[in-house]
This record gives sequence, structure tokens and C-alpha cells, in this order.
Amino acid sequence: MGEQKTGSCGCGAVRFTTSGPLRGIVYCHCSQCRKQSGHYFAATNVADSNIEIEGAENITWYNGSEVARRGFCRICGSALFWKHGELDTVSVLAGAFDRPSGLVADSHIFVDHKGDYYEIDDGLPQFATSTPAVKVSGN
Ligand SMILES: [Zn+2]
Ligand SMILES: [Zn+2]
Repeated sequence: MGEQKTGSCGCGAVRFTTSGPLRGIVYCHCSQCRKQSGHYFAATNVADSNIEIEGAENITWYNGSEVARRGFCRICGSALFWKHGELDTVSVLAGAFDRPSGLVADSHIFVDHKGDYYEIDDGLPQFATSTPAVKVSGN
């Protein structure tokens, strides 16, 4: 099991509780993440079996690519989840977690696709597209 963590969308219509290990935060700078978030994504990842969602009927799932979908609150618009159809894990947006989250920053992906109005200078590993450890759609 492990320590439980809670989180929600901005309006509280969607709430979740995770248990077990949470991946380090991966920052995704791909164009889909940029456009959905207005900047870039910061997400952890958890096994499907280690997350319980309340208010799932309030989640709209947008099929952003052929292999992955993006879940957001249909009421307040908060981005919450990113789900690869072939994996038994779900990415959860870091900012949705209640404090203290205990989350730890890990790395940046799709740096070649980042916005042209900021620099990445936090010293974390940077990857041009994806990494073997982070399966993404390659957009
Ligand atoms: Zn909401
Ligand atoms: Zn992305």
C-alpha cells in the first residue's frame, strides 16, 4: 500500500486518492501538453490499481492521439489525467495534489518541442522527445 495522497480538480467535483509509489514528476513540453495547460505539464504516474477516483462522471476524456487520452474536469476545466491506452498506469497532474504532496521533480521530456519563451535551467535531466522510462505518444 504505502502512504495515501489526495487531490482534486479546482472545483472539487473530481477527487482522487493514490496509494503506493508515485513516480517522480516528469515535465512534458510537447505541443499537446503546452496547449492544454497553457505552459507545460508536470505529472506523476501511478498504477491503475493504486488510484481511486470520486466523481469520475465529471471527467471528460479527450482523445489527444491514437494511443492516449487526456482527462479534465468537465465543470472547471482542470487538467487531471493522461492515460496511455496500452499501459496499466495513469499520469496524474502534479498540481492537482493536495499539499504536502511529497512529490519529487525528475526530468523534462519533449524539450525539442518546448515553448520559445522560456529556458529550462533547473539542472534536471532533459530529453529531446521521450525516454524509455516514460511511454508517450510521440507527438
Ligand atoms: Zn472541477
Ligand atoms: Zn506532453
